[in-house]
Amino acid sequence: ESVEFQIEDQEFRLKPDHELRFEVENKNETVVLELKTGLAEIFGTELVKSKPYKFYFGAKIAVFTWQGCSLRLLGKKGISYISKETPMMSYLNCHASLEQLRTKSEEEKVRGPITMVVGPTDVGKSTLCRILLNYSTRMNDLGRRPIYVDLSPGQGQISVPGTIGAVMVERPAEVDASFSQAAPLVYHFGHTKIGINSTLYNILISHMAEVIHQQMDENPRINYPGLIINTFGWIKGKGYQHLTHIALAFEVDVILVLDEERLYNKLVRDMPGFVKVVLLPKRRGVVQRRNKFKLEGREARIREFFYGSPRNVLHPHTCLVRFSDIKVYRILAPPIPNALMSLDTQKTDFKPKLEGVTPGLNMMHHVLALSFSTTVEEDVVRNSVAGFVCVTNVDTSQQMLTLLSPQPKPLPETIYHMSDVQFIDNNA
Ligand code: ADP
Repeated sequence: ESVEFQIEDQEFRLKPDHELRFEVENKNETVVLELKTGLAEIFGTELVKSKPYKFYFGAKIAVFTWQGCSLRLLGKKGISYISKETPMMSYLNCHASLEQLRTKSEEEKVRGPITMVVGPTDVGKSTLCRILLNYSTRMNDLGRRPIYVDLSPGQGQISVPGTIGAVMVERPAEVDASFSQAAPLVYHFGHTKIGINSTLYNILISHMAEVIHQQMDENPRINYPGLIINTFGWIKGKGYQHLTHIALAFEVDVILVLDEERLYNKLVRDMPGFVKVVLLPKRRGVVQRRNKFKLEGREARIREFFYGSPRNVLHPHTCLVRFSDIKVYRILAPPIPNALMSLDTQKTDFKPKLEGVTPGLNMMHHVLALSFSTTVEEDVVRNSVAGFVCVTNVDTSQQMLTLLSPQPKPLPETIYHMSDVQFIDNNA
């Protein structure tokens, strides 16, 4: 079925419904891809003919063609192969069903489809979300703006790890970048593992769902196209309860289950009848990331937040702040007894508390989230966050912190949330 090649400078001819898969396996290596003839796409974004696309270390790519194409790949010592085993047909069918629901909601002037993608880690959940969002904005003469919601704090795709967020999607993502991020809605969770503070996670989910529903009610452009919600790979035990909490809080209409029949059966049993649960095949070729690679991925996300990417370089600043001039808090939330981990945490009304953190060595390398609130009296926990800094040095004798920051000066009167997430800035 598949043949393996060494990439150096090679041309590939793909028949309709085939894909070319390749990885950039070594640091400091780039691979350049060009579409020579025909039509092709990468995770739902169409390629422009003869335009060179560069890929860097860690990229795991599938170039798919519906019509057939020829491609050129330039780069060193990677493994690549062509496959005809792709789930693209069933993904396209999903997209078509969603489009029908969108048209229907436009006609009836009601909320569009709320879709949630679930499944274990590394089955292609993020990839499926990307394809569905790209397809829905490809021919966007209607000015539709579906919302991408990423609820996995381990990846932190919308912002940095330790957060969950949402972003309006206006057009397909660039081949080598994530969706362009005008004013994302970001909530600080502070951990990469949800289980560390399940209460807080559920509170944030309920609140975020409310905020997004309200935005949808006010704006038809985002209301009719609906939401695509990406979730985490923790599908057993408490993780499953979190998934059902998300489904109820966001009032999902469609759940796409990747590659897990047991999860599919459980959801069919537990979800209200109007929720359509669909089992989809796992993407072949989806690469299992080792734990080390996941850590590197997290680090890369934070590095990108501060320093940008090769195609969009950013120049962050270094600021000195006196211990006495900075207000840092940590969010505490009481652990929920298992039986109470019910579907409506908002009704059980646990109040998360803020605890002041005294600046010192304990902050070294930690990410701090900038709250939109300026006083602790405001609902600091439920408020979304405006940005991030990272503590790159702690000087206890001078009582000073060094912060890596996108802004030249730290804003006065800012309240910071300390994250568990750490980033070691090699440039500092
Ligand atoms: P999940 O969100 O379920 O953890 P992802 O969608 O992030 O999984 O996929 C894991 C990795 O596999 C990503 O790096 C993605 O680029 C890659 N990938 C997805 N589909 C394919 C494919 N058909 N061929 C090669 N790589 C793929």
